[in-house]
Amino acid sequence: MLKAENVSKTYPTPRGDLRILEGVSLSLDHGQAAAIMGPSGSGKSTLLYILGALDPPTSGTVTLQGTNPYTLNEREQAAFRNDRIGFVFQDHSLLPQCSVLENVLTPTLVAAGGGAGDDEARAREILANVGLGNRLDHRPGELSGGEKQRAAIARALIRNPMLVLCDEPTGNLDTSIADSVADLLLDLHKAHNTILVVVTHSPSLADRFPIRYRMANHRLTEA
Ligand code: ADP
Ligand code: MG
Repeated sequence: MLKAENVSKTYPTPRGDLRILEGVSLSLDHGQAAAIMGPSGSGKSTLLYILGALDPPTSGTVTLQGTNPYTLNEREQAAFRNDRIGFVFQDHSLLPQCSVLENVLTPTLVAAGGGAGDDEARAREILANVGLGNRLDHRPGELSGGEKQRAAIARALIRNPMLVLCDEPTGNLDTSIADSVADLLLDLHKAHNTILVVVTHSPSLADRFPIRYRMANHRLTEA
């Protein structure tokens, strides 16, 4: 289970504290999928980073399966992220000099016993599942927008995370490609029984999620 309780976030600025999130709580069980909508600048990415053990809240707690990653030391926290969380960033963040296959394998390289032949077999299988079986040796610059996003999804899933977080995964895609990326995310979510949280501007994508939240005025409400 993913649980955020009374999470607040402020950034210190020369003019005083800038309030971003206030009293945000949510709770999602295994197998649940939620969409977060809301205006630009409302704090959606900030919340996703906090849920993803990438940025600590100013106050409040986040736990995944009972563990609060922000109580761990740096090394433990990195292992926690790598073992349990798959993150699809808004700009996909693929390494430009590496092939698709190498990009998908990067999370396995830092894991204990990682980078083995098993990992490569699994990377090939996931890439086939996302329709990139014939693009393994392409660099990100040699992929379309939708293909990059699918490679980023494959990379997020390579270590079988229990929590998958996606920041506007279809934001820069044409409608039909956005639909196929959304199909893929939801199919993989069902197949792997993960907790899935997707930030999106797209009402048609959000409509496909059984749980919908709206971020506005620093707060998260069910929509
Ligand atoms: P969204 O993803 O909903 O568009 P963000 O979570 O990216 O919004 O940002 C929310 C607000 O927090 C924005 O107004 C942004 O300028 C501000 N912000 C984000 N990161 C920082 C930072 N490191 N320092 C100060 N302000 C920040
Ligand atoms: Mg954002």
